[in-house]
Amino acid sequence: MFASDTVQVRPLEGGLVELCFDRRGEAINKLDDKAVAEFDQAVRAIAAAGGGVRGVLVTSAKDVFIVGADITEFGRKFRRGGEQVAREVLEANQVFVRFEDLDVPAVVAINGFALGGGLELALCASHRVMSEHARIGVPEVKLGLFPGFGGTVRLARVGGPQAAVDWVASGRSIKADEALRAGVVDAVAAPERLRDEALAVLWQCVEGRLDWRAAQQKKRAAVPAADRRVFDDALAQLARHASRHQPAAEMAVHMMRAAAGEDRARALAMEAEAFGAVTQTQAARSMVQAFLNEQAVKKRARSQAEGGRTVRQAAVIGAGIMGGGIAYTTALRGTAVRLKDIAPAALELGVNEARRQLAKQVQQGRLTQEKADRIAGAITPQLDDAGLDAVDIVVEAVVESLPVKHRVLTALEEHVRPGTVLASNTSSLRIDDIAAPLARPEDVVGLHFFNPVPVMPLVEVVRGTRSSDAAVATATAHVIGLGKTPIVVKDCPGFLVNRILTPYVLSFCDLVAQGADHERIDRALEAFGWPMGPAYLEDVVGLDTGSHVIDVISAGYPQRMHPGERNVIRAFAEAGRLGQKSGAGFYDYDAAGGRPKRSSSAEARALVRQMQRGAVCGLDDAQIVERMMLPMLLEAIRCLEEGVVRTAAELDQAMLLGVGFPAYLGGPLQYADWLGLPRLAARCASLAACGPMFEAPALLSEMAAQGGSFYPAER
Ligand code: NAD
Repeated sequence: MFASDTVQVRPLEGGLVELCFDRRGEAINKLDDKAVAEFDQAVRAIAAAGGGVRGVLVTSAKDVFIVGADITEFGRKFRRGGEQVAREVLEANQVFVRFEDLDVPAVVAINGFALGGGLELALCASHRVMSEHARIGVPEVKLGLFPGFGGTVRLARVGGPQAAVDWVASGRSIKADEALRAGVVDAVAAPERLRDEALAVLWQCVEGRLDWRAAQQKKRAAVPAADRRVFDDALAQLARHASRHQPAAEMAVHMMRAAAGEDRARALAMEAEAFGAVTQTQAARSMVQAFLNEQAVKKRARSQAEGGRTVRQAAVIGAGIMGGGIAYTTALRGTAVRLKDIAPAALELGVNEARRQLAKQVQQGRLTQEKADRIAGAITPQLDDAGLDAVDIVVEAVVESLPVKHRVLTALEEHVRPGTVLASNTSSLRIDDIAAPLARPEDVVGLHFFNPVPVMPLVEVVRGTRSSDAAVATATAHVIGLGKTPIVVKDCPGFLVNRILTPYVLSFCDLVAQGADHERIDRALEAFGWPMGPAYLEDVVGLDTGSHVIDVISAGYPQRMHPGERNVIRAFAEAGRLGQKSGAGFYDYDAAGGRPKRSSSAEARALVRQMQRGAVCGLDDAQIVERMMLPMLLEAIRCLEEGVVRTAAELDQAMLLGVGFPAYLGGPLQYADWLGLPRLAARCASLAACGPMFEAPALLSEMAAQGGSFYPAER
């Protein structure tokens, strides 16, 4: 009856037709421009058949129904401006409306996933049947957006305002039982029964046992007035908790509240207009690009892992905070791991930490006790070198001291086979320096995990000058196997993430020395979108560790990074205020080391005042934020210039995953683009007196002069 690359329509018995999504040459169905256009043709073909068609069964020939829109198309579309976007979605909406208004019932069989546009399309049918294992949802908010194909309008009418607001504002994926309870689907079926069940529901409609016209009509009318209070409650809630930098959820609920009293046509127009506006926000632009970056980074990691050897057995040396976490993560992912330490007490601590993590997983219902025991059994604690000749990779996580690491690694070389990767988890030493005395420096790489290891998704894979391709590939493959995101970086002081973070921390020290209140700096940066301000961050890291890291990394860039005499972080460390772990740093903490008490103690304030020697800061919050952020952006640009990573996507992704760089900025280079490179260069010139950290790198000056940007302007 109709056939295209994405949709086919074929007659079934009894005057029914089946409209099947089956995108040629791809594993999944997505709702890009082509799919919408061909769906439209299919609907028109059905409508043209007139009375010859009594009902439509909508199915997918793939393992999923429709995974959503094609996000690679977003950048190009959104660049056309909010009004144009609104016009275009309203036009696409007409396709959905034509389907909804067919003069026959339509039932969608949802298998796998119906997300975003996929669910929005399904909502246009009169009824939906869902496989019990399927998931539905409108995850757009995770990209700084909300549904624009009528999803907010129809969800509020089909599932009611409560479900609509919750689903749209959270972007959660919804299981079948919840979808059924919300009334968004009409029945749930076992996967093998899904098509038959959907067909049965369609027959009920056709034979008049189900009032499909009422279902259709409900979606054309306003939301009952009594139900609308939900929107006010949701707005009050969002006003308290939502980030003002990510306005999508609030914009959506505002619009949904206004549209609830309107009929479908007017409500759809309101949704389209608001959708056009949300596409122009910084959060949407950054988060859409960050999503594409994530895909690109994963793809690149897979290619960098090619040719690596499979890690069947691993070893971790040093059972401290990091080693314990790495061993636990390795075992959790199904790889046997030997955990070695020199101190029995430390070893016990490492193993107990793994057991504690596993117990938590069991308690939360994520693991069975049996599985947890098996995972714990995959960790072999040891004080000797037994079995190290059988491992494929060793992660060294002993104390941060070059002589100790040299001793440990040279001894290890005697016990492991040639080709076994020796990966150091150093946070500040150079891989070349670590590898220097070894007989097989080609086997040495850096694997820089972040703390806490089980939670943090990023691992920097550091390629030393002499690291072999095979060692880098094996280490990269191992990190992928651990379920983390590897980013391969060049060996330089601080590698990528800590190098970029150091000028930020140094700026904090400078600002405090110049009279800025550390609590005020924290408040300004938290309001700007950081999960925690710099003083609190250093408290969490530990001021002794932080001070050491600053010293080592800044020594690598003496031409611009100087901790100087007035290094407040060192002063706190020397005063024994080590941060959260010692109960007191910039802030005071309770014994459990939770969030800081609201204000700093008298001792902390006295220490700060001593550094300030009466200096008074005349900067406002925006200037404080600029002084903190600019040196960081410039260091990021230098890293790209020097090839520490190859792509802007890797750099931005590393900062999002490694240090919680504010998501709505999308990473330092996206933020630089947003500010505009000429403007950034001009700010460097204005702030030259603040020191060499504010000097524009050559790459910035060049790109600013040529009107360039780190991401193509036409995305
Ligand atoms: P830690 O002090 O908690 O643990 C170090 C462990 O190494 C101790 O258990 C110690 O007994 C053991 N050890 C010392 N010498 C040994 C030897 N010769 N053989 C075997 N074990 C030995 O330290 P940590 O915080 O886990 O840091 C370990 C490494 O990870 C350091 O290089 C550090 O710079 C790096 N790192 C730390 C963090 C962090 O946030 N803590 C983050 C990234 C990287």
